[in-house]
Amino acid sequence: MTGTNLFGSEKCQGLDDFLRPEHLISSETKMFCETLRKFVDNEVLPHEEELDDFWDWTERKGHNFVHDIWKKLLIDVGLQKSFMPPEFGGTGGGTTVESCATVEEVARGDFSVACSGFISPWSIAAITIPKPNEFLLKKFSPLLCGDEINMICSAITEPHAGGSVEDYRLKGSQIRTKARLEGNEWVVNGHKLWPSAYREAKWFRVLCAVEGEEFPRNIAQIFVPVDAEGVATSKPYRKMGASIDTNGDIWFDNVRVPKENRAQEVPEDDFKSVMANITIGRLTSAAFPLGVMKRAYEVFKNYVDNREIAGMPMKEHGVIVHELGQMAREILTAEGFLYYIADRLDHPDLYGFPWELKNLALASACQVSVSDLGWSAVNRALDMMGSYGYSREGKIEKLLRDIKITQIVVGGQLLRLTELARYYFGTETI
Ligand SMILES: Cc1cc2nc3c(=O)[nH]c(=O)nc-3n(C[C@H](O)[C@H](O)[C@H](O)COP(=O)(O)OP(=O)(O)OC[C@H]3O[C@@H](n4cnc5c(N)ncnc54)[C@H](O)[C@@H]3O)c2cc1C
Repeated sequence: MTGTNLFGSEKCQGLDDFLRPEHLISSETKMFCETLRKFVDNEVLPHEEELDDFWDWTERKGHNFVHDIWKKLLIDVGLQKSFMPPEFGGTGGGTTVESCATVEEVARGDFSVACSGFISPWSIAAITIPKPNEFLLKKFSPLLCGDEINMICSAITEPHAGGSVEDYRLKGSQIRTKARLEGNEWVVNGHKLWPSAYREAKWFRVLCAVEGEEFPRNIAQIFVPVDAEGVATSKPYRKMGASIDTNGDIWFDNVRVPKENRAQEVPEDDFKSVMANITIGRLTSAAFPLGVMKRAYEVFKNYVDNREIAGMPMKEHGVIVHELGQMAREILTAEGFLYYIADRLDHPDLYGFPWELKNLALASACQVSVSDLGWSAVNRALDMMGSYGYSREGKIEKLLRDIKITQIVVGGQLLRLTELARYYFGTETI
């Protein structure tokens, strides 16, 4: 074995030598992660510097590299079907730990590729947890397990509020997108903002409040095809980063869909499903900043290997060594915390179900901590890279912008800290 001596392992073996729990990841998922890494190295990182310029790729005429990224990732590599249960034509069924490992791998290439790339699995989780909805799984199976690119995005955030529509204590009172049952159809009216991949999506999962119903029966997730009559969309927003994840407005004006398009057949289960979805969404969203940190480690390691300070190799300089140690510590802490919480979620018999409040609090803690550690680690690297840190060519400033964006997705940092205060300090009025 290379790098071993009397003291065992002598040298860091690279990206995989942090804390990914290899003993919890199947050989199939390891192979899938290897394939994802090659995909990132060959198809995403070569475009690292130009990605920002392609924020409007869905509005541009003709074929461009972003189309190739989706085709290769979703179809050729097989991500699109990798989360559908095998009995519905997919190759999925992995654990939470394995999901985090795959998200991290793609996020190392680009946060927005991971954000859009994993949006369908997140949407589909609504029809598998707490109970599988066989009707909808069968309906989406040809869509997600075929050779065409198809995405299902999640429309939750609204113009007046994002955090409050997903705050369980507000019991759905802040969801202004309404659904009413008329005969065998839902009629949906409202306005959503921000759904990731809304431009590429063929279906929307829409968080609605059901007219005339009391909590928890008032909360419904209804699947709406993008070409339904009464659906309209805006142009994509221009964000500070995460460019190729498209985000925009969607309006629903008396949109009619069959009543079977509700995610959970038992109305009370839809609330459980939403809670589980937020927990899973926050936890897997913590894998975004972890992947970005790993990329920052690669970029920065290459830099300190080749840069000098005061005539010495940079990584041998006293002041710098302290910062390098801090960065390694931050990656280790982030990775250890993420995979520990993910593993707990894989043992509901011991640690409870994802819709339970402790698990929501733990996933929230994880997303806050990993993204804060990510911000600190990437900012540290940027500082130490001097002027290179501030230019696109230095490949680090994009990572700082992207890490910042990972902090708002699925509710924002303050709501997540509020969940922690509620659980651990018994805060009752907020
Ligand atoms: C790249 C990207 C991708 C996104 N993808 C999606 C998507 O796929 N689907 C989707 O629906 N949305 C998506 N969003 C939107 C995102 O989920 C929201 O921005 C987020 O939930 C916060 O909502 P908001 O922006 O309305 O801010 P606000 O809700 O106004 O929050 C502002 C601050 O107040 C805090 N806060 C809000 N409400 C409460 C409360 N009740 N208690 C305590 N604190 C609170 C928040 O934590 C935050 O820190 C995406 C956003 C980005 C940037």
